Amino acid sequence: MKILLVEDEPGISSMICEGLEDAGYSVDTEEDGEKGLQTAIDGNYQLIILDVMLPSRDGWSICETLRLQRNRVPILMLTARDTVQDRVHGLDTGADDYMPKPFDFRELMARVRALIRRDKIHKSRTLRVADLEIDTLERKVRRAGEAIHLSHREYDLLYALAARPGAILTREMIQEGVWMNEDAFSNTVNVYVGMLRKKVDAGHDVKLIQTVRGIGYSIVAPGRGDSGSVEHDTTIAN
Ligand code: CA
Repeated sequence: MKILLVEDEPGISSMICEGLEDAGYSVDTEEDGEKGLQTAIDGNYQLIILDVMLPSRDGWSICETLRLQRNRVPILMLTARDTVQDRVHGLDTGADDYMPKPFDFRELMARVRALIRRDKIHKSRTLRVADLEIDTLERKVRRAGEAIHLSHREYDLLYALAARPGAILTREMIQEGVWMNEDAFSNTVNVYVGMLRKKVDAGHDVKLIQTVRGIGYSIVAPGRGDSGSVEHDTTIAN
């Protein structure tokens, strides 16, 4: 667990740094805004703690620049004043949380833990089956890196199948799970699977959606037989 702390007041910096290290984190520190931004870009951090008032570039600008570069590392801002304007500004620039100074160190630690935990949960919410990726938080789907646009129902159906790769879902199970039994037409499932196939499998050599004759449907990763697995993505930190 590596944390970057950008803070120009030596007393505060060493206090936070020592506390974080005592808690088992490894900490890099910068005192200058420009250097802090560069270190944030170059390093692979689990969290960045940013002071607002810094020499050469302020914390808001660092935060904004990282977000413009699609860097999604959790950012905790240390703000001098707790005003509504500051908070709104913080959220606008893409900070995840902020801590008004002076602060209680235990509260800072609690926020650090919460941000890292939230980030882990967020990252573990990408389902992968072969080259199919489902971002379950954003409800976005990609295959071989290309976005696939699905209707609400199509997404729910794909999710039901992909959440248990290799498992066979009967039409009844799908009807119950995706349509909540509200639709009595048993052909609906078949029609939706057909539409999903067009969007997910058409144009790809490997067909992920399998029909199990007389039983139902399944998503199977190639070469995995019926032992497909869900991989938790831990690589999209930035
Ligand atoms: Ca400062």
